Amino acid sequence: MPTEQQRLQQLNAAIEQSRDDIIELTCALIAVPTLNPPGACYAEICDLLESRLAPSGFKIERVRAVGALGDSDKHPRWNLIARHEGRNSGECVHFNSHTDVVLAGEGWTYDPWVGTVVGDRIYGRGTCDMKGGLAASIVAAECFIRTFPDYAGAVEISGTCDEESGGFGGVAYLAEHGWFDPDRVQHVIIPEPLNKDRICLGHRGVWWAEIETHGHIAHGSMPFLGDCAIRHMGSVIDAMERDIYPALAQRRTAMPVVPDGARQSTLNINSIHGGLAEPDSDYTGLPSALVADRCRMIIDRRFLIEEDLDEVRDEIHGMLNQLKNDRDRFDYEIKELFNVLPTMTDKSAPVVGAVASAIESTLGTEASFVVSPGTYDQKHIDRIGKLKDCIAYGPGILDLAHQPDEYIGIQDMIDSAHVMSRALVTLLTPSDAS
Ligand SMILES: [Zn+2]
Repeated sequence: MPTEQQRLQQLNAAIEQSRDDIIELTCALIAVPTLNPPGACYAEICDLLESRLAPSGFKIERVRAVGALGDSDKHPRWNLIARHEGRNSGECVHFNSHTDVVLAGEGWTYDPWVGTVVGDRIYGRGTCDMKGGLAASIVAAECFIRTFPDYAGAVEISGTCDEESGGFGGVAYLAEHGWFDPDRVQHVIIPEPLNKDRICLGHRGVWWAEIETHGHIAHGSMPFLGDCAIRHMGSVIDAMERDIYPALAQRRTAMPVVPDGARQSTLNINSIHGGLAEPDSDYTGLPSALVADRCRMIIDRRFLIEEDLDEVRDEIHGMLNQLKNDRDRFDYEIKELFNVLPTMTDKSAPVVGAVASAIESTLGTEASFVVSPGTYDQKHIDRIGKLKDCIAYGPGILDLAHQPDEYIGIQDMIDSAHVMSRALVTLLTPSDAS
């Protein structure tokens, strides 16, 4: 039997030798254009993952999120869960990566749908967010399994769809169907691009709402005969500027949110539509003279773990009620579109400790802890799956996500694969724990 130290050296060597493999795997994943929306090629990417993981001894299951938001026969929402059992019983560590990517957009130097290797970088849509992280977790898991075949527990790797559009056909569906129940999965690592020395503990909360102001339609030459809904909406913006924005700026959080600007409550006015609809691009005529009888605004409020969702709602409802009292003929409706509660995994949770010490031992630097300004699939694992031992940890620079010329650093993938594999040693080989 090799000693623990020898096995750790073997593990390191195996990861170091995986350089060509990790590049090839990342490029193969990029070449499957899993564009979302509409949710393309999800079956194809599952084929690719199965052909990779089945020969490594993983048992493969595919789950289509039948009936979930976005699922259709044209664009079925396919997910893959691969599970490898150790020789002894124990806990399960699950790596969850989303397989979907956002549209490429303009401004690319490289073909976004082919992985292009230039120096230490691979360019392509989804390299950073997050096919590079998926490739790193696959290599980490395979190297761990080969080096520690007698480990206790199980390793799971999932490739799930639709994260970029809310995750309802992906992680939410799997969580609803028991795949993240704490009796089958105990620890979750989501390899989103958060830099190889940072652990993301969770995210702020979200509250989206649509506010509609009502007016009265009339001829635009006699606006006094109507009531302009857009002017009423202007008073809503005034009240936000005067009362809401200054109040939100005062609310700072103890959550280590990055970037610093997001370490407070925020409110984004996502869109406003009032009056005539935008004409078709081929319409060449003038608008008609009308007073707007409806104006709609969508707001995107991000809130803190120190805030309560009801208080978040009440603040906006209170502002609107005040306007109704103060402003002549002000009338409105408000509709909630979506909410997600903030979540933050405890720093003392096992997966946090395992990854933090792996960062220290393999990168020689102390782990830093962050919280994401926006949400990701941890929300479903936490809320539906009731699984609390969950973090995001993976290679890549978050700012590059969704940008043209998105890339992943090859050495960053190797480094984070070292960290992931070492975390597996800690969590699944209790006697060998480093
Ligand atoms: Zn992502």
